[in-house]
Amino acid sequence: MEEKQARKLICEIGRLLYERSYVVSSDGNISVRLDENTVLATPTMTCKGRMTEDSLALTDMEGKPLSDKRASSELAMHLLIYRERPDVRAVCHAHPPHGTAFAVAGLAIDKPILSEVILTLGCVPLTDYGTPSTEELTAAMQPFVKHHNALLMANHGAVAYGENLRQAFDRLETLEHTARIAILAKILGGANNLPSDAIEKLINIRERAGYLGKEARCQACGYLHQTGLSCSGGEIAGSSDGKRISFTREELIELLSQAARLS
Ligand SMILES: [Zn+2]
Repeated sequence: MEEKQARKLICEIGRLLYERSYVVSSDGNISVRLDENTVLATPTMTCKGRMTEDSLALTDMEGKPLSDKRASSELAMHLLIYRERPDVRAVCHAHPPHGTAFAVAGLAIDKPILSEVILTLGCVPLTDYGTPSTEELTAAMQPFVKHHNALLMANHGAVAYGENLRQAFDRLETLEHTARIAILAKILGGANNLPSDAIEKLINIRERAGYLGKEARCQACGYLHQTGLSCSGGEIAGSSDGKRISFTREELIELLSQAARLS
C-alpha cells in the first residue's frame, strides 16, 4: 500500500477504534505492512482517536526505527503476525470490552452460535497470558497465528489481522459483536449451538466463496471436530504445545464412564 494513503487510513481506523470504545487512553495499536521490509505503525503513548498522519512511526521488519518517531511498544506482536502470515498486510490490536471480557474470564469465542461468524471469521482462540511487549506474549500467540484471523490474549485484549486494514478492523468488530451477542444470549438462558451438519454446510460455502481457505479447518475450536471435515494442514492450531486437548462428545462420555468404573 502507498504510504500516504496508509497514514490517512490508520488515523481513520484509530478514530473508529476510539469512538466505538474498543480502546481508551493510549490503548491499542495499528500497523500496515507497506512492503516486504517496511511497516507503518501507530506511535507509543498516543490516544488512537487523536493521532495525526505525521505522528506515525516507520520501522523495518525487525522493529528498527526508520524515522524519528517511536512505534508502539506492542510492535513485536504485529511483526510476529507478518512473519507467520505473508498474506497479512494490516494488524489491529485493541481492548474491546465484550471480547476482552471473554479474555479476562478465560474463555475463547469458539461456540458455533452464529452462521455468519462461521462463514467470515471462524473461531477465536484464547492464547495464554504473556506480559505485554515481551517475548512471553508473542510466544503464547505464535502457535495460533497461522490458522486464525483474530486472537484473544488472556487478561489483556484482542488482535485481528487481514489483507488490508479495513478487513483487519472488520474482523475485530465481528469478534466484539459476537462476544456481545454471546453474553446477551447467556442472560436470556443460553445460546443454542448450530448442529454439526449445518456447520459442515457453512464451512463448504465459506471455502467455495473464498471467505476463508481450507487452512481455517485447522482452527482451535471444538465444533470443527464434530463435523466430518478434517484439517488438511496436519495439526490443529495450538495442539503442538501439549497443553490444549479437545475431545468429541462421545470420547468425553467414554472417558467419564471409564473414570466412574474405576472409582
Ligand atoms: Zn493491549
